[in-house]
Amino acid sequence: MIKFHILLQHENFFREMGIDPYLDIFGGLHAVEHALIGIMPLYALCDRHDIGGVSTPYHLDTEAASIFIYDGHAGGVGIAKSIALNMPKLWQAALILIGECPCTPEDGCPACIQSPKCGNNNKPLDKSAATVILLDLIQNGKIG
Ligand SMILES: [Zn+2]
Ligand SMILES: [Zn+2]
Repeated sequence: MIKFHILLQHENFFREMGIDPYLDIFGGLHAVEHALIGIMPLYALCDRHDIGGVSTPYHLDTEAASIFIYDGHAGGVGIAKSIALNMPKLWQAALILIGECPCTPEDGCPACIQSPKCGNNNKPLDKSAATVILLDLIQNGKIG
């Protein structure tokens, strides 16, 4: 399993970036999780259905906002492990994907942040918050 988290308090980060600190953090984390899983087949030999994800605004283990990505097959087949080192590249790619997707709703579209296999019916999702979180991950994200 890969887990990565954002070290800075997101409220401070948002303020420093001049961004509304009340964006939907969970919607943003959830959107980032979907976008990363969606592009993962470009970086590892897998299908998006082979990978699972969970995101949370706070996790006791990391003491930070966290996203967990794991092999969907019981016991794992090494996909998450093989992609861990490439994670910063995936954050960049997800930022471009979301930034360049022409869809207008904050909850995105199937080409960017919506997932066909979401257990929560693609709710909540927040494109603006996802962009901020990806910028934060690129600058401050820690893997492991
Ligand atoms: Zn879209
Ligand atoms: Zn989901």
